[in-house]
Amino acid sequence: MSTSVLVINCGSSSIKYALVSERREDRIFGLAENLGSPEARIKGITTGGEALELSIPNADHEKALETILERLAHHNPQAIGHRVVHGGTLTKAELLTPEIIERIREATPLAPLHNPAHLVGIDATMRLFPHLPQIAVFDTAFHQTMPSHAYRYALPKFLYTMHNVRRYGFHGTSHAYVSERGSQLAGSFKQGGWLTAHLGNGSSTCAIWNGQSVDTSMGLTPLEGVVMGTRSGDVDPSIHSFLASNLGWDIYKIDKMLNSQSGLLGLSDLSNDMRTLIEAADEGNEDAALAIEVFCYRLAKSLAALSCGLPRIDGLFFTGGIGENSALIREKTLAYLPHFGFNLSKENNNALKRGTEGRIDAGTGPQIWVVPTDEEGRIAKETEHVVAALERPTIKKSEPETEVA
Ligand code: ADP
Repeated sequence: MSTSVLVINCGSSSIKYALVSERREDRIFGLAENLGSPEARIKGITTGGEALELSIPNADHEKALETILERLAHHNPQAIGHRVVHGGTLTKAELLTPEIIERIREATPLAPLHNPAHLVGIDATMRLFPHLPQIAVFDTAFHQTMPSHAYRYALPKFLYTMHNVRRYGFHGTSHAYVSERGSQLAGSFKQGGWLTAHLGNGSSTCAIWNGQSVDTSMGLTPLEGVVMGTRSGDVDPSIHSFLASNLGWDIYKIDKMLNSQSGLLGLSDLSNDMRTLIEAADEGNEDAALAIEVFCYRLAKSLAALSCGLPRIDGLFFTGGIGENSALIREKTLAYLPHFGFNLSKENNNALKRGTEGRIDAGTGPQIWVVPTDEEGRIAKETEHVVAALERPTIKKSEPETEVA
């Protein structure tokens, strides 16, 4: 990467930022949190790896961005890359024009918590940096290569044609980065059939054939699929009518329960944090042990289901806070998949140093790798590609077209 790109990820009360340049070690990053409250602050890492903590009482998104950008201005970022969760049917990263901003606004009903926050951030950086190219990189874009039999629900057709009700998938930048990096490590860059398991607070799986997503576990929203920190993943959709009829719950209460009170937290009645659950299970907590077992079983089931999208399985990549750090979860999940020929090397699995990439199979069957994700790096790279394409002179029709490497 020859330039530095500022990556911005605006949430409803927080902003994650990273200044991504050529060397990963030089990255400057941080988080502005509690925005709009007296406790608003910025925490991060500055040049040279030093810790930063800055109080910005009552700062809103714009004020926080102003402070972040003031601190980073002397690094002269050449572009800004915005993480945008839902791009509707947009298939790739796009320069932020009034038309693209409108498309992001139109996708708001599909990501009501995320897209409005992204739009606030985009608005602020547009005003603060009118001369810098600003690019939107969508979580959903990578999955736009899914075939219709993978993205359609078995629901009345008009819900798809008139209201865009379909499966979109999320964590696209992570699945794209990890499958690309992983297949490169495996010596078959972007070739073959791979499964990815992104396991963090939000978790999802993906099937990738020759570098393209062919199916994924999340759907219309990031609630579908595997068990997550506080999200239920797949449940019988009739749970809504059951709870409404029997407990008198309204739709908002049910939605909140499924998104914020379920998953590992709901099952264990203790925590959404996998480390806490592993410790508690070790000390004999049966609910924590069950939460871990359901997590691993459902994850294995999802990987097995997604394998139907692949002509063959070359291997599996684990990533995300849990996937990168927990040998136990990797081992338990693979124990449910012996019929796929996965053959984990317990020694390699246990020996893998945290935060490092490495191969953990025993040399037979599909390969198994741990690949730390780099969503910021991927967003920066996609931002650079869009900017480079903008700067490339347009080829006149009369000139012979040369291939651009
Ligand atoms: P996010 O989805 O918010 O980016 P992360 O990818 O950082 O989250 O993942 C957070 C999860 O990773 C938490 O459940 C945390 O407990 C888990 N985790 C981190 N380190 C370990 C570890 N050593 N063993 C098990 N789980 C871990």
